[in-house]
Amino acid sequence: MKVQCELCPKMCLIEPGQSGECRVRINIDGVLRSVVYGYPCSINIDPIEKKPLYHFLPGSPILSLATVGCNLHCKNCQNWEISQANPEDGNITAYFCPPQKLIELAEEKHCPSLAYTYTEPIIYYEYTYDSSKLARETGIRNVLVTAGYINEQPWRKLLQYVDAANIDLKGITDEFYREVCSATLKPVQNALVVAKSCGVHVEITNLIIPTLNDKPEQIRELARWIKQNMGSDTPLHFSGFYPRYKMLNLPPTPLKTLEEARQIGLSEGLNYVYIGNLASKEGQNTYCPGCKNLLIERVGWEIRQMRIRDNCCPNCGKEIYGVWK
Ligand SMILES: [Zn+2]
Repeated sequence: MKVQCELCPKMCLIEPGQSGECRVRINIDGVLRSVVYGYPCSINIDPIEKKPLYHFLPGSPILSLATVGCNLHCKNCQNWEISQANPEDGNITAYFCPPQKLIELAEEKHCPSLAYTYTEPIIYYEYTYDSSKLARETGIRNVLVTAGYINEQPWRKLLQYVDAANIDLKGITDEFYREVCSATLKPVQNALVVAKSCGVHVEITNLIIPTLNDKPEQIRELARWIKQNMGSDTPLHFSGFYPRYKMLNLPPTPLKTLEEARQIGLSEGLNYVYIGNLASKEGQNTYCPGCKNLLIERVGWEIRQMRIRDNCCPNCGKEIYGVWK
């Protein structure tokens, strides 16, 4: 008997013994099962800035995990060895780590939050959901790093236990999503708006790929969409592309492009626009949108200065969007 997976907009109709596009949700005797539940292939402690989250518990360590699999197949995926792997691939080691053990690990390592990241937390949904629910009961916070390609109903159900998310907005045209990611734009925009409306702290990442989504007018349109639909306080991270996986024919994103993108974002009225994964003079710092004073100085993943006091700029008193403790 075929089974339809209703988790993401792909709505895979799965034959017995087969998996959906994500490779990890399998029709076993007419029942859809997540075969990666409790089996992460990566567990690390990262600085939270690496997610990237710049306005959520700055300077804190975050226990970060992933299973294999993804519902997208981005040609430039930087984690393709695990995101595009099958769970039965012999060359990938998975660890047995059920939700309870994850929580214990976070406590033992003094991590105030858990990140479901690296591949796509949506496709290991049940594992993410149960772990998040348990973490919430224990006072540990939950962070998703996701492409946001999910149907609204399961998304809302998961979001009740999510504290923060970095959601990719990979491009601002359906054409880009179809050609580069094998996905579509609308569900991602909807996931962003729904996350915001559920009270989740949201930051957005846009990876700029030379020739594909680096035109100033595309960046302007993206910034405008964010301002209109998510608000001008939403932190936006422009990150640089490196040739990876099936996209080895394009050059890395020049720093100049990222700096120009940052200026476009700021000029469109976004208050917090950052440059990710390339060192820049100002692109990693947080400045007060009111008085322009330096609030957080970052070098790499490290916080050099943290001047926000009681959620506000100490100079002009403006409240700064974020979860600061
Ligand atoms: Zn200020």
